[in-house]
Amino acid sequence: PTPADPPYLRNLNDQQREAVLTTDGPVLMLAGAGTGKTAALTARLAHLLYTRKAWPSEILAVTFTNRAAREMRERVGRLVGEAVEGMPWLGTFHAIGAKMLRRHAELVGLQSNFTILDTDDQLRLLKQLIIAADIDEKRFPARSLAGLIDEWKNKGLTPGDVDAGESERYANGRGGELYEQYQTRLRAVNACDFGDLLLHMLTVLRTNREVLEAYQQRFRYIMVDEYQDTNSVQYLWLRLLAQARRNIACVGDDDQSIYSWRGAQVENILKFEKDFPGAKVIRLEQNYRSTPHILGAASGVIANNGGRLGKTLWTELDVGEKVRVLGVWDGPEEARRVGEEIEAARRDGTSLDNIAILVRAQHQTREFEDRFIAIGLPYRIVGGLRFYERAEIRDALAYLRVVNQPADDLAFERIVNVPKRGLGDKALAKIHQLARAERVPLTIASARILDTDELTPQARRSLGNLVGDIARWRDMARDLPHAELARQLLDESGYTAMWQAEKSAEAAGRLENLSELVRAMEDYESLGAFLDHVSLVMDNEGAAREPQITIMTMHAAKGLEFDTVFLAGWEEGLFPSQRALDEGGTRSLEEERRLAYVGITRARRRATILHAANRRIYGQWTSSLPSRFVAELPPEHIDAETTMSGGESLWRANWTEHADPFADVSRGTGRGPGWQRAAATNSTFSTKPQRIVEARASAVSLGNKGRSDVSLGQRV
Ligand code: ATP
Ligand code: MG
Repeated sequence: PTPADPPYLRNLNDQQREAVLTTDGPVLMLAGAGTGKTAALTARLAHLLYTRKAWPSEILAVTFTNRAAREMRERVGRLVGEAVEGMPWLGTFHAIGAKMLRRHAELVGLQSNFTILDTDDQLRLLKQLIIAADIDEKRFPARSLAGLIDEWKNKGLTPGDVDAGESERYANGRGGELYEQYQTRLRAVNACDFGDLLLHMLTVLRTNREVLEAYQQRFRYIMVDEYQDTNSVQYLWLRLLAQARRNIACVGDDDQSIYSWRGAQVENILKFEKDFPGAKVIRLEQNYRSTPHILGAASGVIANNGGRLGKTLWTELDVGEKVRVLGVWDGPEEARRVGEEIEAARRDGTSLDNIAILVRAQHQTREFEDRFIAIGLPYRIVGGLRFYERAEIRDALAYLRVVNQPADDLAFERIVNVPKRGLGDKALAKIHQLARAERVPLTIASARILDTDELTPQARRSLGNLVGDIARWRDMARDLPHAELARQLLDESGYTAMWQAEKSAEAAGRLENLSELVRAMEDYESLGAFLDHVSLVMDNEGAAREPQITIMTMHAAKGLEFDTVFLAGWEEGLFPSQRALDEGGTRSLEEERRLAYVGITRARRRATILHAANRRIYGQWTSSLPSRFVAELPPEHIDAETTMSGGESLWRANWTEHADPFADVSRGTGRGPGWQRAAATNSTFSTKPQRIVEARASAVSLGNKGRSDVSLGQRV
């Protein structure tokens, strides 16, 4: 660095500088976590503006999240000074797609003021079409169709591109036909869904030379962060736009590709050099984020994946603390331990803003939320709602509130037609009328209206059933433990079945949240006490911005960093997820392993991995095995501690003695898989693992049924 360097070049290493200064021609920055890819991309943007190689409106810069876009905008502003006037084309693919599509809507049969539908609207529309097409919506739920259409759109397939084989995936071959009708219907109401934002624009670019050429001219420079997680339609889009000028710079890390379930194709990275011959590939190897132990732990785990591009990482940071692996007895202890550690760190002067808890599944946040509220630690949930704010939890709570307190009109209104019972607005209006006239709550008005002929026969029948059910649940509430009551209520009301009918990953997550809710109830002495707790929790929304712990999924944490990171629930069936295990093979397992790599590499100074020996699943205690990823952590980089007897030997031995069930696990490159290495370092085998292995067998049989298919009332 020379004194004359502009501010954005100071502090960059040689490779980063090269990436910044190579403005013309295709550039691929391929590097591991924390090597300053995003920092270099940001500096590159600053450089283009500072040297007037392009106006802000001539640069297309794509980030993975809106938050990342905001950060990049701010950072560039700081680097270049006030001079930056807006950056209209800096954003996520969807944000950019929407902006473009508004300008060319008429080319795909829309008007520029088209509405962007949310998932609910989308489902409602699909349902209408399904019913009109005389398809049994129970057997072929709208959500499955929505998922399929989304998948097609991610692949860049218009209805015309969907062949018979693809079409076969919904309602005996009628998928394509419904996709076509859906698109027609969307046009008729001047609307589009999220997938259309990209697909329509792709169509525009493909079919209109002038439009394509205009954009190719406009975008002098194109940049993409997190390139490993682009899907096909995004890739096709970029390729078209970049073809003329070829000034495209993409940065990514094949080891951090974690969105294949949303259609992302890591192959896009591998194709880059073919699509853009002569591309300059820049590798960054110095990691500025994490200590050697954290890096060593992450690298040790990811080394077990096959087919990696392979990267070297080094750091100049002090060796720091080893990664801690903490075995605890159960979920509540996990939350308690993390709470204690955070309080200690806070006393030592660490700001809560620098602390994150990363989980695999959304439902895991609940235990932490409850604990932090109890001990008064402020937290926020990123990339998702707080547990008790999620739709399915609110629905379930509404049922419980009606049982607990029949005058709870708001709760009654929420559930009266969920799941759908044919009690629409009209019926509800009549009930309201009667309730007002007789000054009674809606539940009572509902019972009374049954004696009149105000309702249609069908509405009367459904309402009668609901009123009867509520009365019965109230009776049951007297003798039945309240968690058991909740379980039965959710089954008998058809609420669980509603989500089970949907095969989407989202629905499975909601079912998990519901069983987590039932689990949480067991800690309270009565239904009333539990509902009080929930009201208090809901009210906990801190007004002023104070430092807060961040709780989020590892997926949402991509690209971020924190001084201190807690990685919770590293157990077989939770992480790797049961779904990944059920699918078998290495593909989904390797994606889980990449997620582990993303998780660990979020930490700057301290990383703690936790696993519990017992979890409550569907109300039953189940022993759980430490995640195989725990065994893959190189012993020299970790400090293992456990509150149970057996200690580290317990999980090492497990993976030593029981390699068989996972013979399909990738043997990876270089080092052997965790349990083989473990065999060399530790051969203790206490009596404990046997018990765990038995427990594991039951976990597997649960898995075979598919967790999401297990009704909440069913015993495992
Ligand atoms: P990820 O793969 O997780 O997205 P990344 O490669 O994008 O990581 P950055 O987030 O850009 O990495 O950088 C990681 C950290 O290193 C940041 O705190 C950044 O400020 C810092 N950093 C980047 N480059 C340098 C450098 N040349 N000197 C010092 N610190 C740097
Ligand atoms: Mg980054």
